[in-house]
Amino acid sequence: MDKLLFTPGPLTTSLTVKEAMLHDLGSRDISFVNTVKEIREQLLEHGAVSKESGYETVIMQGSGTFGVEAMISSAVPKDGKLLILINGAYGERIARIASIHKIPYEALVCDEDQTPDLQKTEELLSSGSFTHMIIVHCETTSGIFNPIDQFGALAARYGVGYLVDSMSAFGAVPVDIAACHIDFLVSSSNKCIEGVPGFSFVIARRDSLIKCQGQADTLVLDMYAQWIGLENDGQFRFTPPTHALLAFRQALRELDEEGGVSARAARYQDNFNTLAEGMSALGFKEYLSRDRQGYIINSYHYPEVAAFDFKVFYNKLNDRGYIIYPGKLTKANCFRIGNIGRLYAKDVKALLTAITEVKAEMGF
Ligand SMILES: *Cc1c(COP(=O)(O)O)cnc(C)c1O
Repeated sequence: MDKLLFTPGPLTTSLTVKEAMLHDLGSRDISFVNTVKEIREQLLEHGAVSKESGYETVIMQGSGTFGVEAMISSAVPKDGKLLILINGAYGERIARIASIHKIPYEALVCDEDQTPDLQKTEELLSSGSFTHMIIVHCETTSGIFNPIDQFGALAARYGVGYLVDSMSAFGAVPVDIAACHIDFLVSSSNKCIEGVPGFSFVIARRDSLIKCQGQADTLVLDMYAQWIGLENDGQFRFTPPTHALLAFRQALRELDEEGGVSARAARYQDNFNTLAEGMSALGFKEYLSRDRQGYIINSYHYPEVAAFDFKVFYNKLNDRGYIIYPGKLTKANCFRIGNIGRLYAKDVKALLTAITEVKAEMGF
């Protein structure tokens, strides 16, 4: 049996999602074109929008970051200015993307255990110098949830384009893209929808997407050209990840069978509660305060005892069939445990049993 992945992705997927890949489809075949169409429409539904209400899905080959880079470099013109709200490594990565593409930007950076300050954001926007703003929905570095609705209201008030990196939240955190005033939201195939890695997707307001024409400074990451390609003949400009798309269509069907985004949210919350209770009983301390903590991934401080060594801890859990994740915080030594993927409370309980054994073995 495969090991269980308590990580931010790639994640544990169902057998049926994996089995959906046992087909070779031609990239111009009608059944493949229909698969892509079904996926693009379904994704809009999960964001509470539709083609009729003026939204589009653009699928990009590559991992999530390819989608983030395509979205930013296509949406923000070189004579625009991007306000980047940063409270973790994924926000920092966005600043790096802007800098590489020579997109003028300013970063509002706050501590990794805090959400960006609304008042400071408003002060910056009211200067009138920004054309776009971007925030990370669930900052996977810590697991914190940023209130994308409140920042969206600010973006709308000051008339700036609003971009959201919802990579690790979309599909498991209910979002109304129109009500949040989101122009572009990006996520990927291998996070909360529970598909396999291979592509990312951007859900965009059509009016905002049309403005991207001619703005991209790369061929492959041109979000506008990719959209036009998909619209014209339903095909990708370059070789599509056919197997990953087949797996994803099955994953979307399983999301529906489960009861949609709210039911998935409930399962992940159940995983989160089981984990939080068990870890607290074992003496582990959470990094985030409960009001900021999301249910996607948890960060735990390293126990402050000589007997604790993360590498040993990790390897012993790995030997028992459980994969956890190292930390990536700048100011605290933490490790992370994800609640997402095809995992249930019984799996979290099994992980907790393994942690109990390892803790005793290591003597802390
Ligand atoms: C996973 C993730 C990404 C994309 O990472 P890739 O490794 O490129 O798939 C981007 N932003 C956030 C918040 C993420 O959690």
